[in-house]
Amino acid sequence: PHDTVDVVVVGSGGAGFSAAISATDNGAKVILIEKEPVIGGNAKLAAGGMNAAWTDQQKAKKITDSPELMFKDTMEGGRNINDPALVEILSSHSKDSVDWMTKMGADLTDVGMMGGASVNRAHRPTGGAGVGAHVVQVLYDNAVKRNIDLRMNTRGIEVLKDDKGTVKGILVKGMYKGYYWVKADAVILATGGFAKNNERVAKLDPSLKGFISTNQPGAVGDGLDVAENAGGALKDMKYIQAHPTLSVKGGVMVTEAVRGNGAILVNREGKRFVNEITTRDKASAAILAQTGKSAYLIFDDSVRKSLSKIDKYIGLGVAPSADTLVKLGKMEGIDGKALTETVARYNSLVSSGKDTDFERPNLPRALNEGNYYAIEVTPGVHHTMGGVMIDTKAEVVNAQKQVIPGLYGAGEVTGGVHGANRLGGNAISDIITFGRLAGEEAAKYSKKN
Ligand code: ADP
Repeated sequence: PHDTVDVVVVGSGGAGFSAAISATDNGAKVILIEKEPVIGGNAKLAAGGMNAAWTDQQKAKKITDSPELMFKDTMEGGRNINDPALVEILSSHSKDSVDWMTKMGADLTDVGMMGGASVNRAHRPTGGAGVGAHVVQVLYDNAVKRNIDLRMNTRGIEVLKDDKGTVKGILVKGMYKGYYWVKADAVILATGGFAKNNERVAKLDPSLKGFISTNQPGAVGDGLDVAENAGGALKDMKYIQAHPTLSVKGGVMVTEAVRGNGAILVNREGKRFVNEITTRDKASAAILAQTGKSAYLIFDDSVRKSLSKIDKYIGLGVAPSADTLVKLGKMEGIDGKALTETVARYNSLVSSGKDTDFERPNLPRALNEGNYYAIEVTPGVHHTMGGVMIDTKAEVVNAQKQVIPGLYGAGEVTGGVHGANRLGGNAISDIITFGRLAGEEAAKYSKKN
């Protein structure tokens, strides 16, 4: 059997759903396939926020930002090897993407700080609930509203081309139907990254061998093979990001927003050792340099109340608490006396408004309210910056930068947007903006063919 549509989208994360919705809204008939039995990919797990510049939500909070500043932060965070043309799209369309999501029913009114950002620009639901689960739910509801044909347990295997090299669809394998062709004028690859595939990760970056990962089971990179077999060039593959704070107790990723909202990082000796909201590569390296290759996120009830996600960590049992820092230190094997001094010192820096010890750029609140909490954390493989090369229309290109007609890519499967290091909050922004772009371009292309 086979099925014929205008556009087939591979992968049901944020990029795939955004692409499927935008292709549909641009008049295309779409099939969206997902190899796993659940939707949402890693996008669903994203906890930090959606970076966007100069939005109504920022204005309401009197935060001054600009696409130029977001561009600069993103390039610096990526060590300037990002593709500037793609970063330009990311920054200048970030506000449209927040508006697009809001119009579809998303709540992105809370705006917080993430590592490497000059200002608060990580948009998330009020109360600080997980942004990814919310965004995926809104996208899913909107896909259902549009009657998009979503096929679960269906893996994209090989892009079909005619003898001129033009894309004609994709060979898929459904759990029940087996192998069949989905014929289409355009194929959008939105298959995510490969951080869960430690063999592949370690081959590219041996320092990450044996690391745990924050990713969902499907993030193994088979979509990259599909792209490469179709002639797409891969770039920046060796740049693989460790997320600095995975809970040692439970393996869950603790969002950067916990630090953004005020938590500090201390070692077993009870001392701070880094600007807590530096970029992920630097924070990870600093944690691995401490005794036991782990560190502790320390915060109080005022931080807990600022971010509802924290109650989830407490519920999971990974954030023990005590009414004094000395008791907390005793429970967790941290020098309690030093910890008490460290927090007092930190609080005095908060009152002075300047972190003269580690140059932390934001000091949102003192840590002196109610119970204190400690989450032991260590880095885990989180995001793969490299991937298939695309141009400014989200078209996949080959090593000579020639377009492969009818093949598009969006989201973590692509390389170039984040350079050598992705900033927290830029993934959700990336997948919505480039998913929309790929969907729109693929729909236009399909109409011409
Ligand atoms: P992004 O954030 O770029 O949208 P995600 O990780 O959220 O990426 O989503 C990618 C989705 O693609 C995941 O749900 C994953 O299971 C799915 N996927 C990966 N490879 C394939 C494939 N070959 N066929 C179908 N779906 C795939």
